[in-house]
Amino acid sequence: MDFIAKSGLIIFLLALPTAIFYMAWKALGGWKSKHPLNLQEYLTTYPSAKTKSGIACVVCGSKSLRNLGVSNATDSRRLVSCNSCSSPLYHAKQ
Ligand SMILES: [Zn+2]
Repeated sequence: MDFIAKSGLIIFLLALPTAIFYMAWKALGGWKSKHPLNLQEYLTTYPSAKTKSGIACVVCGSKSLRNLGVSNATDSRRLVSCNSCSSPLYHAKQ
């Protein structure tokens, strides 16, 4: 085995656990790292976000929110962001 093949193997052996760890972290809770609040906590933290006609963005006041699945459109893990200013608002599990 020459030097380039060896260093390639070492990089692979280092990258593999990192990738596995990252995927486990994502699955266990990392998916909501940018949206740490759930809906209940969001409304408790920002009471003004609750309006008569629905939930509003606390940053810009828009009621146009984006509800996206984490890995695909039908993922039960939902991340809700503002459609106007893109602020991360809250996460939800369906
Ligand atoms: Zn907004």
